[in-house]
Amino acid sequence: MIVVMQPEASEAQIQSVIDHLVNLGFDIHRSTGVERTVLGCVGATANIDVRDVEVLEGVAEAHRISSPYKLAGRSFRPEGTIIKAGPLTIGGDEIPIIAGPCSIESREQLFAVAEQVAAAGARGLRGGAFKPRSSPYSFQGMGEEGLKLLREACDHYEMAAVSEVMSETQIPLMLQYVDILQVGARNMQNFNLLRELGKIRKPILLKRGIAATIEELLLSAEYIMAGGNYEVILCERGIRTFETYTRNTLDLSAIPVVHKLSHLPIIADPSHGTGRRDKVPPMARAAVAAGGDGVIMEVHCNPEKALSDGAQSLYPQQFTKLMEELRLIATAVNKRVAPARAFAAQQR
Ligand code: PEP
Ligand code: MN
Repeated sequence: MIVVMQPEASEAQIQSVIDHLVNLGFDIHRSTGVERTVLGCVGATANIDVRDVEVLEGVAEAHRISSPYKLAGRSFRPEGTIIKAGPLTIGGDEIPIIAGPCSIESREQLFAVAEQVAAAGARGLRGGAFKPRSSPYSFQGMGEEGLKLLREACDHYEMAAVSEVMSETQIPLMLQYVDILQVGARNMQNFNLLRELGKIRKPILLKRGIAATIEELLLSAEYIMAGGNYEVILCERGIRTFETYTRNTLDLSAIPVVHKLSHLPIIADPSHGTGRRDKVPPMARAAVAAGGDGVIMEVHCNPEKALSDGAQSLYPQQFTKLMEELRLIATAVNKRVAPARAFAAQQR
């Protein structure tokens, strides 16, 4: 059930409604918007008549939620969710671009690409330290050493650090170094991991599973939010279809669908979505045009030598050109992409 308080409801009235609902057996998730407070009520099994709640003092309306996700649903925060992570804001007027290598491979590799993407206007630096590889014999990542490098590069170039957490045992380590914890496609339904991420208070980048429906993606977000962590960024990264030309099929229609169903921001990953460098710029442009709240892309200074996902990694010059195009497209949809920065170029 969702309970919308009147704009003029006092704190005492809100508290008394919360107490009443807790007594009925609900877990209450409070969303304090600019205009009014919304209470997301989950968990009670008894059949409650919403009219009994609507007559409580300070309540504007109460309604049952028919969708299985209550907190991820649009009605919990009709105005949308804005998430801040380091120097990056997502869900507002600016569309942050997150870029970097698939895997952190060495200090030289990471800093070289960080400088280039920072100068081009990226707000976030991505880089895997723990890699979910299809083969156990492929490069598995640098681990904590990689996370330290990512933190250092992000502090130096003023970017938010984004890296994948593969298991709940890695969470304390990740918290020391990253601003956004990524849940990979293969872990979208790792419910133990999602529950643990609900207990922390840092933004989560939740990637859509390879064969997951949009509803399943929102239900996975609900797992995190049910623990009280409402800072979930969704990511469309391509799903598996009968098409084999591209690595996955980037389902950009998920962007307007999610915007209708949910208040959570959604970004696109055209790198994993296509698997081919030449297909990344057109799909990144399309993602911004479709209203995406951000784009995450793989960039590498020497992709032929990359330890993972070289074929889908952009060259830095390609990325810089693409950023200029994204700025133009963002303007057409009343958004903006951060400008290029001069500081990195001067340090070269
Ligand atoms: C990645 O971001 O490098 C990655 C492994 O992504 P996904 O989980 O979408 O495959
Ligand atoms: Mn990758």
